[in-house]
Amino acid sequence: MREFVYSRADTLKGLPPDATIIAGGTNLVDLMKHEVMTPGKLVDITGTGQDRVECDGDGLRIGTLVRNSDLAAHPDVRRDYPVLTRALLAGASGQLRNMATTGGNLMQRTRCPYFYDTRMACNKRSPGAGCAALGGITRNHAILGTSPHCIATHPSDMAVALLALDAEVEIVGPSPRRVPLAAFHRLPEDTPHLETVLQPGEAIAAVRLPAPVGGIQRYRKVRDRASFAFALVSIAAIAVMDAGRIGRIALAFGGVAHKPWRDRSVENLLIGEVPSPELFSRAADALLSEAEGKGANEFKIPLLRRTLTAVLHEVTEETP
Ligand SMILES: Cc1cc2nc3c(=O)[nH]c(=O)nc-3n(C[C@H](O)[C@H](O)[C@H](O)COP(=O)(O)OP(=O)(O)OC[C@H]3O[C@@H](n4cnc5c(N)ncnc54)[C@H](O)[C@@H]3O)c2cc1C
Ligand code: SF4
Repeated sequence: MREFVYSRADTLKGLPPDATIIAGGTNLVDLMKHEVMTPGKLVDITGTGQDRVECDGDGLRIGTLVRNSDLAAHPDVRRDYPVLTRALLAGASGQLRNMATTGGNLMQRTRCPYFYDTRMACNKRSPGAGCAALGGITRNHAILGTSPHCIATHPSDMAVALLALDAEVEIVGPSPRRVPLAAFHRLPEDTPHLETVLQPGEAIAAVRLPAPVGGIQRYRKVRDRASFAFALVSIAAIAVMDAGRIGRIALAFGGVAHKPWRDRSVENLLIGEVPSPELFSRAADALLSEAEGKGANEFKIPLLRRTLTAVLHEVTEETP
C-alpha cells in the first residue's frame, strides 16, 4: 500500500477536490491494498452526521452514512420499500453490511478481475491502456450498454432496488443538486474511468425515496453460491395490479451492465395488459433486443430471459 495523508471531516461541504472519500472502507481499502486506487489524500466522512433515515415529505431521506444493515432493518423500509430490504440482504455478508454505507455502496467499483490486477490492461484503471477482458475471461461481464472500451458491470444490489423505486441522489459540493439515480451512473462509452456524474469536490449526501407505491415487490438475484457472491443477473420488480391488468410496473436489472439497468420500453409494453406467458416473452424480447454476449457471458442472455419471466409471474401473481 502506498503512503497517504488521512484526515477526518466534520462536514461534507468544502471537501478538497483532490481528496478521496473513505466511508465504511469495505471496497476502498481492498483497492488501496491492491494499488488499484492510490489516493494521496483520504478524507474520512464518518463523523459528518449523515447517518439517519428521516421522513422527507411522503418519502424518505437516507443519509449517505446509513449502514446497509441498518437500512435493511429500518421499519419504514421494511414496510414501505420491501424490495430495498430484500436487495440489501442479498448483498455481501452480515459483517460487511454492518460497515458498508449507502453512499459507498452506490460508489463501489466494478468486480472485473482485470481491474483488480494491475499487471493487466484496463481502460477503467488506466485510460487508453486497453481492455484485457475483451478476449479474456468474461463470465461476470455485461451484456447491455457495453462499449469497445469496457464491458464491466456495476456490482451493487442496493442500487438496483433504488432504481426501481425511482430514487434520487442528493449531491453536496460547489453545485448542490439532486440527480435521479437513473442518471447518476454512466455507461462506459470511451471513458469507462468516469463512472458517475460526481465532479471533484462533490460527495453524496443522501438518497431520497419518493412516496411508497405499494404493490408486490421482489428482488431476485442469481449467483454462483447462496451468499457472499455478486449477481450474475438480478431483478428488482414492483407491480401494482388493477382489475386483473398490470396497472403499474417498475423493473431494474443488475449484473448485466456498467450501471443498474432500466428500460422503460419494457415497462410500457406491460402496463395495461393482462399477464400471460406470451406477454412476458415479448417483454423479454424487448429487454434483450440489443443484448450482446462476449464468449463466456453469453449464458446471461437466456438466464436473464428466464429470470425476468419467473419474476413477472411472481409479481403479477400468476403461477409460473
Ligand atoms: C467480499 C465482499 C462481498 C461483497 N458482496 C456484495 C454483494 O453481493 N452485493 C453488493 O451490492 N455489494 C457487495 N459488496 C460490496 C459492498 O457492499 C461495498 O464494498 C460497500 O457497499 C461499500 O461501502 P463502503 O461504505 O464500505 O465504501 P468505501 O469502501 O468506503 O468507499 C467505496 C467508494 O465510494 C466512495 N464514497 C464513499 N462514500 C461516498 C460519498 N458519500 N460520496 C462520494 N463518494 C463516496 C469512496 O471514495 C470509494 O471510491 C461486497 C464486498 C466485499 C468485500
Ligand atoms: S472490462 Fe472494463 S474494468 Fe474490465 S478490464 Fe476492461 S476496461 Fe477494465
